[in-house]
Amino acid sequence: MKIKENISLKDFNSFGIEAIAKFFTIISSTEQAQEISESLIIEKNNSLVMGGGSNILFTRNFDGLVIKNEISGIELTNETDDFVFIKCGAGVIWHELVLFCIERNYCGIENLALIPGCVGASPIQNIGAYGVEVKDVIHAVEAVPFFDSKIISFSNNDCHFGYRESVFKNKYKNQFIITSVTYKLKKNPVFNISYGAIPQELERMGVKDLTIKGIALAVINIRNSKLPNPKIIGNAGSFFKNPEISIAQYEELKIKFPSIVGYPTDKSNVKIAAGWLIEQSGWKGFREGDVGCHEKQALVLVNFGKATGADIYKLSERIIESVFQQFQIRLEREVNIY
Ligand code: FAD
Ligand code: NAP
Repeated sequence: MKIKENISLKDFNSFGIEAIAKFFTIISSTEQAQEISESLIIEKNNSLVMGGGSNILFTRNFDGLVIKNEISGIELTNETDDFVFIKCGAGVIWHELVLFCIERNYCGIENLALIPGCVGASPIQNIGAYGVEVKDVIHAVEAVPFFDSKIISFSNNDCHFGYRESVFKNKYKNQFIITSVTYKLKKNPVFNISYGAIPQELERMGVKDLTIKGIALAVINIRNSKLPNPKIIGNAGSFFKNPEISIAQYEELKIKFPSIVGYPTDKSNVKIAAGWLIEQSGWKGFREGDVGCHEKQALVLVNFGKATGADIYKLSERIIESVFQQFQIRLEREVNIY
C-alpha cells in the first residue's frame, strides 16, 4: 500500500472537480484498511474514505488523507429456504452487485439498478430509488474505525437508517472505513412496482410477465432517459434531499400552489419533490458559465466542464434561498461537501 502525495482527485469524483489530495492511497483488502487505520498518517477530522466519488463535492483541496476503497469480492455466506446472504467487498461497483443478483434471481435490489458508486457507500446514505431503500436488505456492515484495527460489525438496527440517512452520515461521519456489507436477499421474488414510472415503462417495453430482470431493465431505461451521464456532464445525482413538511404546511401550500407534488411519509409528514420546488423557482435548465441546473431534472446540479466546487456550492446557496423565499421550505444538501 503506497501513500502518494499531491494527487489530483478530478478523475475520482463524478462532478469532475479539480481538487488536490495532500495524501492519497488505495486499499484493496481489510488488512490494508486495518494497517492504514493504525498508521500515524490518519488525522482526526482530516481523512476521507472514497468509493466512486459520486456523492461528493470538493469545494477546496483536501488537506489530509484520501483513502480510495477498492476492496473486492462477492461471496454467498449463508442460505436458508427463503433467503441468501451475500457478503460484498466495499469497493465492488454497486451496479455489478445488482447484475450478479439479477443473474441468480436474488430479489431486493433490482429497483436500485444503475446507481453509481460502490457497495461501501450504499449504507452511508441508505441509497434509494424507485420505491426501494437499501436498508430493507442490509443484514450487516463491517467497518474498521480510524486509529484502531479491530473490525466492528454493525447490525441493521445499529446503522440507524432513515431517509437518505444513517449513523455513518451523522454520528460516525468520517470515522470508519467500511470494508464489507452483507445483504439478505429473497429467493422468492416479491416485486415492487409501486413507483409510477416503472409500470409505465414495463408497458412500453411490452413486458407481460414480471421478472427481476424486467424491472431492472425498466429502471435502467428510465434512468438513461432522464439523468445526465457523469462521464459526459459532471454531476452527483440529486444535489438536495426531498424535504419533509407537516401536513398543515402542505395543505397551506396546496391552496397557493395546487400542482405541488407531495407524498405521505410513515412519520405522518409529507415528502415534497425538491425537483418540483426548484423548477417552480425558475432554475431548471439554468446555466451560468460552467455551472447549471440540469434541463431534464432540476434536482441535479451540473458541471459543464471547468466549474469549481465553490461555483457549484454558490449555485446551491442561491437555489436554497430562492426556494425558501417562495415556499418557506429550506432545502438540505444530500451531497457530501468537503
Ligand atoms: P462516494 O461519493 O465515494 O462517497 C460518499 C460518502 O460516503 C462520502 O462521505 C464518503 O466518505 C463515504 N464513503 C464512501 N465509501 C465509504 C467506505 N467504504 N467507508 C466509509 N465511508 C465511505 N443515490 C441514491 O441514493 N439513489 C439514486 O438513485 C442515485 N442516483 C444517482 C445518479 C447519478 C447520475 C449520480 C451521479 C449519483 C446518484 N446517487 C444516487 C448518488 C450516489 O451514487 C450514491 O450516494 C452512492 O451510494 C455513492 O457511492 P460512492 O461510492 O460514489 O460514494
Ligand atoms: P421523479 O420520478 O421525478 O419523482 C420526483 C420525486 O417524487 C422523487 O424524488 C420521489 O421521491 C418522489 N416520488 C415519485 N413517485 C413516488 C411514489 N410513488 N412514492 C413516493 N415518492 C415518490 O424522480 P427522479 O428524480 O426521476 O428519480 C427517480 C428515482 O431515482 C427516485 O426514487 C430518486 O430518489 C432516485 N434518484 C436519486 C438520485 C440521488 O442522487 N439521490 C439521483 C437520481 C435518481 P424519492 O426520491 O424518495 O423516491
